[in-house]
Amino acid sequence: MGKRFAIIGAGMSGILTAIKLKERGIEDFAIYEKAARLGGTWRDNTYPGLSCDVPSHVYAYSFELKGDWSHRFSPGAEIQGYFEGVARKYGLDPYFRFNSEIERAEYRDGRWHLAIKGGTTDVVDFVIAATGVLHHPATPDIPGLGDFKGACFHSARWDHSTPLDGKRVGIIGTGSTAIQIVPALADRVSKLTLFQRTAQWVLPLANPPYSDDEKAMYLASPQSLQQSYDFWSARFVDTFARAVIGDQDELHRIEAACRTNLEENVRDPELRRRLTPNYRAACKRLIMSDTFYPAMQKPNVELVTDAIERIEASGVRTKDGVLHELDVLVLATGFDGHAFLRPIDVIGEGGLRLADAWAHANEAYRSVAMPGFPNFFMLVGPNSPIGNFSVILISELQLAYVLQLVGLVLDGKCHAVAPSQAATRRFNEALREAMKGTVWVTGCKSWYLDRNGNPALWPWSFDRFRAEMHAPDLADFDLVARETATFR
Ligand code: NAP
Repeated sequence: MGKRFAIIGAGMSGILTAIKLKERGIEDFAIYEKAARLGGTWRDNTYPGLSCDVPSHVYAYSFELKGDWSHRFSPGAEIQGYFEGVARKYGLDPYFRFNSEIERAEYRDGRWHLAIKGGTTDVVDFVIAATGVLHHPATPDIPGLGDFKGACFHSARWDHSTPLDGKRVGIIGTGSTAIQIVPALADRVSKLTLFQRTAQWVLPLANPPYSDDEKAMYLASPQSLQQSYDFWSARFVDTFARAVIGDQDELHRIEAACRTNLEENVRDPELRRRLTPNYRAACKRLIMSDTFYPAMQKPNVELVTDAIERIEASGVRTKDGVLHELDVLVLATGFDGHAFLRPIDVIGEGGLRLADAWAHANEAYRSVAMPGFPNFFMLVGPNSPIGNFSVILISELQLAYVLQLVGLVLDGKCHAVAPSQAATRRFNEALREAMKGTVWVTGCKSWYLDRNGNPALWPWSFDRFRAEMHAPDLADFDLVARETATFR
């Protein structure tokens, strides 16, 4: 009997999985997506100024490079268009099940039984969860949030019907998101107030447009495009990815560049002081922008560093007693980067619930699988992100690894495969040990850290990641021969 697959999520990793399954001649699969469209984070985030902080030529599937990106760092809408175009090109339309949220996935009698919101069901042999990392918006726990009389929305739920021109707009947060919104709005609004709890290090990376000649050149020459992909990949691997895991020379270079940016581009010493972080660069996700500081110095832009006391009908009251009156309030307050598959109720072998397996921490084996959850795989799962690197290549390497495990079943070598408890424990112990040498634990608060203070990132080099994803070490896996057999 042929095997059936369910892909959860129609974002970057879900589309990738569908393409690669089809490439192997596998047609019996569905891509379940709770929203009405594909695109994941690029569908959800439409805020003004949105662009990717990974260079365009790298932020694309390695097998589907695009020569005519408009800018060095692509605008969000262009990336969304790219994924829509790729899905069309690879004939994925018949496989999408939109508005179909998986509520429960239960492993019974050797197969995964899926319950989909609205009452439908499916039974599959493999689940590949491509549910993303930064998906669930974090709403700040600020008193009075519901009292605000103007428009108030999270940056990932931008309300495009809200007029902004000539309005008084407040933004809470100073992450990658807020720092892109500020320059995009500064010239449109009458007053922009940025509520900063923690200052950020900012690397002044410019985002020039590609000229028509450059685009024509990349379109005409796949070799040049590949060279650009290789160049930017190597650049990120050799700089950021090394700095965050402990290369002090590289980190000092980044820190110096951020400091110079502050000193040279923020004129007022008092504003500069308030924009200066008190932790190491790259401890939080490093911000790339050469437009943020200029925007912060416009006469209609105010930086507020007094803590927020509460939100009132007409604005934000800070602890110094000042009421900052606003028409619109944007919550650029980030995401729950640790929710992963949740709220899906995933029930593995013998009734083991993911909620229990992960009650203390999200512990996966090499980010892609979990003991007790046979034939269930994740892309960009726990500890996947590699310092500011493109998650697309990460996902591609993980999928190639996962498909080797899937191949064991398709080739009849076993009925099901899952990592062993012991191997998963060893991997997570090694992760925790390696985290001690990273910049993420040097004394800042960020979405990287889970509730135990452990960063949800990859603490080793990109080369090690590539090597670990090359081929599964079968000694680390439990393979069961028959549907009725159980794992150790
Ligand atoms: P974020 O980096 O988590 O930043 C959230 C911001 O909200 C922080 O400044 C945080 O302050 C603040 N905040 C949260 N709760 C608050 C509260 N109760 N009161 C006051 N301030 C509060 O979120 P993000 O900017 O959305 O970015 C998340 C990640 O998405 C990035 O790290 C990046 O990985 C990705 N991203 C990438 C791009 C890109 O490619 N260009 C763009 C956007 C996002 P504290 O620092 O004090 O906690």
